[in-house]
Amino acid sequence: MTASIPSTVHTRFAGRLVFVGFGSIGQGVLPLILRHIGGMSPERIIIVTADLAGQAEAEAYGIPFLLQPLTQENYRQILQPLLAPGDFLLNLSVDVSSVALIELAGQQGALYLDTCIEPWPGGYTDPNVPASLRSNYALRESALALRKIRPGGPTAVITHGANPGLVSHFVKQALLNIATDLALPVRDPVSREDWAALAARLGVKVIHIAERDTQTSFVPKAVDEFVNTWSVDGFVSEGSQPAELGWGTHEKTLPADGHRHDFGADSAIYLMRPGAGTRVRSWTPLAGHYQGFLITHGESISISDFLTLRVGDDVRYRPTVHYAYHPCDAAVLSVHEFAGRNWHLQSRKRILMEDIAHGVDELGVLLAGHARNAYWYGSQLSIEEARALAPHNSATSLQVTVAVLSGMIWAMENPMRGIVEPDEMDFRRNLEICAPYLGPVVGAYSDWTPLYQRGELFPETLDTSDPWQFSNIRV
Ligand code: NAD
Repeated sequence: MTASIPSTVHTRFAGRLVFVGFGSIGQGVLPLILRHIGGMSPERIIIVTADLAGQAEAEAYGIPFLLQPLTQENYRQILQPLLAPGDFLLNLSVDVSSVALIELAGQQGALYLDTCIEPWPGGYTDPNVPASLRSNYALRESALALRKIRPGGPTAVITHGANPGLVSHFVKQALLNIATDLALPVRDPVSREDWAALAARLGVKVIHIAERDTQTSFVPKAVDEFVNTWSVDGFVSEGSQPAELGWGTHEKTLPADGHRHDFGADSAIYLMRPGAGTRVRSWTPLAGHYQGFLITHGESISISDFLTLRVGDDVRYRPTVHYAYHPCDAAVLSVHEFAGRNWHLQSRKRILMEDIAHGVDELGVLLAGHARNAYWYGSQLSIEEARALAPHNSATSLQVTVAVLSGMIWAMENPMRGIVEPDEMDFRRNLEICAPYLGPVVGAYSDWTPLYQRGELFPETLDTSDPWQFSNIRV
């Protein structure tokens, strides 16, 4: 094992830290916070959570553990006394509205970070709410709308885990790497327009968040059990939402079940089917070609919006951006069983951690359609290396928790930026903090396209004039 334990203290923090939620991500990030943020002693931390997960770890560190599920009715009463100017609200929960907590943190003068935009319970799945409003697109618009009510102010970093989060920084590094390899002279991109112009100049047509998790457990998945390497509740709720993708300007036809939204930035579309029931083709260096789920995620929308090139109101360029998620094999079986039950959850849930036998979470971005065809850039973290680097983590959780750490540090270093998405942050600073925890970080070119080996079966269904059409990528 080559991993040496990182020990750099990146910044100092004098405020209090309030965790909301202490599941797999909360438990995994705590040791990293104590290791890398100076002055962050346990007596200035409190955990507010809805179940007993992580209680033993909190006790071992001497951190108060408040078992109190937050609701729309009680969250202000519980959190307000815990937050003063200069404190930090770290939201790592499910079923608690991010928008409500962002507003509250801002009012209290506290910094804030979450890893996805969560609604109150039912916000993802209520069939009485139109599909467009059950989307991550709508949740993002509602979070960004707070900028109008509260421009500037204490920094609130939204959606900063691995994905959404870290992958936005991978995209920028990948764009620069491709430009260098093509010997394209590039001045350091700074603004959103600079990055969009670079992506357009390179001719990037699609960006996949291409993830293949090969971690397996000593204990096989049982019948009527949902197994995953991170939150089962989180995966099930996002997998039940309509599939969503940033919709590129090279696409010729909207899918038959595809819809645009009639409000907001218009960078993304949604499909009238759950993401956990929608599969796409993609490629990673270790796995090769594979089929993943097109699960809706914030980064599909924010990256496609960030890289949109406009002249006046006219959209001249945008890549198609989406997740192509092959979770661990036990989760694939779990999704299959879940779908067979018409999306009614199994009676038992298990998040893999100590019971992982081996495997790698290969998480990166695949930028394709350019002069070198396809380029994947990302992390290949094994369970062995993750365990050597930090306690209470798997390969999957460590990619998330180190990005939570880097986002928190960036917020502490930039405390008055208002509401900020990953794409708007300093990618170099975040990658610098994350890199020691990501295992091999590799860039790899490939001649793979979604037409690979598909000529013999149903050639009439393929668009051979442009392999990077979504119609070729969708299974
Ligand atoms: P988990 O299921 O392991 O834990 C969820 C936590 O939320 C638990 O501690 C639970 O008690 C708490 N919680 C639930 N309802 C609550 C309520 N009403 N009030 C207070 N706390 C409540 O989940 P996890 O794997 O730790 O994930 C946490 C969050 O991070 C989820 O929203 C998930 O979607 C997100 N996530 C993001 C990424 C990313 O890369 N961006 C990756 C993994 C997880």
